[in-house]
Amino acid sequence: MRLRHIKGAEETIAANRFVVQNPEESKGKWRALFPQNNPIHIEVGMGKGRFIMDMAEAHPDINYIGIEMYSSVLLRATQKMEERTLDNLKFILMDAVKIDECFAEGEVDRIYLNFSDPWPKDRHAKRRLPSRRFLEKFHKILVPDGEIEFKTDNRALFDFALEEVEAGGFSLVKHTFDLHNDSEMMEGNIMTEYEERFSSIGNPICKYIIRRL
Ligand code: SAM
Repeated sequence: MRLRHIKGAEETIAANRFVVQNPEESKGKWRALFPQNNPIHIEVGMGKGRFIMDMAEAHPDINYIGIEMYSSVLLRATQKMEERTLDNLKFILMDAVKIDECFAEGEVDRIYLNFSDPWPKDRHAKRRLPSRRFLEKFHKILVPDGEIEFKTDNRALFDFALEEVEAGGFSLVKHTFDLHNDSEMMEGNIMTEYEERFSSIGNPICKYIIRRL
């Protein structure tokens, strides 16, 4: 997501009550930051936060954490949080490459990757969130049977992601190349901003669920 830089975004995020500052200090203690001691689900690359806010509203028995690397993008999510009461949702501003420095082994129950940036050039493949480099980090912080759900309309990225599953330490549970016409995988589906945009112009949405080995 390329957003114009918004003046003052860093300062606003650094003082925002929905954003956990110095997230590495919460390693192993995330559950204590929420009013209820519930399982933790993370969205990596949450963008402006529509998906994770709707998930938090639909599942009050789960604690959600959204991770986004750009302050101007995260700012939009924090502004929307002012209009909603969601005490089971927090945000982190960081590059997910540091995720295993901020969460302890087995601290996370599920991870969502939605419409991750494709990084089409081969030399940038390791920046792709469903690459083995990131899967290995996600593997460390997930519970033993923890799962990752990934959605994208980018077929090349999805094909790449399918090839990375085993090397990253996961097994494929389910997948589809046309989520919106797959009634079983559509059950309970919550749309992301990008999903709404790309499905409305007719792009099929691919999705997989993978489980930690
Ligand atoms: N998930 C949202 C959706 O589906 O509508 C946003 C999709 S947008 C294409 C991808 C988002 O992931 C961008 O906001 C980008 O800044 C963020 N992102 C990409 N790589 C990231 C990383 N390594 N760590 C944290 N956020 C990242």
